[in-house]
Amino acid sequence: MAEPARHPLAYAWASPLTLPGLVLAGAARATGGAVVVRDGVVEAHGGLLAPLLPRLGVGVRPIAMAVGHVVLAVDQGALDCTRRHERVHVEQAERWGPLFPLAYAGASLAALLRGQDPYHDNAFEREACAASEG
Ligand SMILES: [Zn+2]
Repeated sequence: MAEPARHPLAYAWASPLTLPGLVLAGAARATGGAVVVRDGVVEAHGGLLAPLLPRLGVGVRPIAMAVGHVVLAVDQGALDCTRRHERVHVEQAERWGPLFPLAYAGASLAALLRGQDPYHDNAFEREACAASEG
């Protein structure tokens, strides 16, 4: 099922995140990966992303990651199985724009201060997990 069209202002607001995501997508393509646009979101996988993404996590080994309107993944299977989860992060980036990394880090810090896990108990991750499980 296709997602509703995204608003042009959502692209502009999230563009400070999307631009570095596009650089990584281009680097993935240049190193043997693939890049497609699906429902208004750039999806990239393979190439340098396969060894790079698992190293970017703190306490977790990510297989996919949303960076603005770009979703990066280690391979096609990772893209497919994380699509609903990562689309929630794209929507979060549309709401928070350039503030999203700060808000995400703040949510991790809040979880730590509650004595919880900074990834699994991060409010943004909980929202994405709830959507992908629902
Ligand atoms: Zn997530």
